[in-house]
Amino acid sequence: MACKSLTILGATGSVGMSTLDLVRRNSGAYRVEVLTANERVDELAALCLEFKPRLAVIANPNHYSTLSQLLEGSGIECAAGPQALDDAAARPSDMLVAAIVGAAGLRPVLAAVRRGATIALANKECLVCAGDLMMQEVASHGARLLPVDSEHNAIFQVLDAREPKSIKKLTLTASGGPFLTRAPETMKDVTPAEAVAHPNWDMGAKISVDSATLMNKGLEVIEAYHLFPVRKDQIAVLVHPQSVIHSMVEYIDGSTLAQLGSPDMRIPIASCLAWPKRMATPAKPLDLATIGSLTFQEPDYDKFRCLALARDALRAGGAAPAILNAANEVAVEAFLGGKIDFTDIAAMVEKTLTKCDMKEPHSLSNVFEIDGEARRIASAQL
Ligand code: NAD
Ligand code: MG
Repeated sequence: MACKSLTILGATGSVGMSTLDLVRRNSGAYRVEVLTANERVDELAALCLEFKPRLAVIANPNHYSTLSQLLEGSGIECAAGPQALDDAAARPSDMLVAAIVGAAGLRPVLAAVRRGATIALANKECLVCAGDLMMQEVASHGARLLPVDSEHNAIFQVLDAREPKSIKKLTLTASGGPFLTRAPETMKDVTPAEAVAHPNWDMGAKISVDSATLMNKGLEVIEAYHLFPVRKDQIAVLVHPQSVIHSMVEYIDGSTLAQLGSPDMRIPIASCLAWPKRMATPAKPLDLATIGSLTFQEPDYDKFRCLALARDALRAGGAAPAILNAANEVAVEAFLGGKIDFTDIAAMVEKTLTKCDMKEPHSLSNVFEIDGEARRIASAQL
């Protein structure tokens, strides 16, 4: 197999590190072209010395001199700042892994889309805040999105996109997060440490909190709407605490196809890296006899308000998903910083949605304005 060159945006994060773990185990098959990070300059430099990319980019420009010093004599080119990140994404490579968290991923993903890249997309927020416009760019530039998110990767693997009329329903499964069985009246007292301790998945702090509020599932419903040829009312959410069935497609003939696997992000990442082939991973084999039973329940939309807000935002359309996403990013950061309660996250998102102009974004630069305005309105509530 020819060696694939990889650009990894967000290399120091949970998805970035899982990707590099697979690269490490398959060193003959991949060559790293670019690695990027935001703040963790020491970790980025260490990864660069191991994987020898041509270019290392640190998004926070204050760390440029540290990065250059750490990589001195390595022959690795260094760059810093948001523009350098976009330029790195625009540089040719066989596959770009988009693993930056939040709307911060939108510009670089767009730069990759505009070069017609094949993108392994983990950064769901960019589709939430600019889905329609982003998908138009994907089509016009001949880019390809391979979903890394485990639910969307599952659907990608079992969906027959040639026959959209034969699809009845997509069902996104949700573990339910750490507070599935917690008494609703104690949700206010959830601490950041409790919220980031996910029962099945080991992830970055922001997506862990989103998984605890179920906002993550709401963002994923919006993501699925943009990735797959279905109407908004054809996407269902089902709580499945074991995280074995990663999602399902129901067809009109009554057949339901699902993808199953251990809850290990290296499985969906490998499915993208090797696509359209497959590669071995060190993930634990799925042992259904030991697991014994798989259980399912409807989500509780009253206890997990964020999921209801995200579904409403998708239904409302226009600027609503971008506002929802921006307000949620501000609220999650405030919660992690101890400034607001867990239940204030949904309240802040809801209030921001009522205060912002919902007009459909007419351009990508308009999306950035909407994002900025929603952040200002959300921050003013702190
Ligand atoms: P993380 O917090 O562990 O890592 C985020 C990465 O993005 C880091 O490398 C960081 O340096 C970089 N980054 C953060 N802010 C940045 C900025 N302003 N500019 C440039 N780079 C920045 O996050 P994660 O858990 O790896 O998640 C990454 C993305 O993948 C998210 O969109 C998340 O929703 C999605 N995702 C993650 C998982 C998972 O298991 N972790 C699963 C599915 C989807
Ligand atoms: Mg997911």
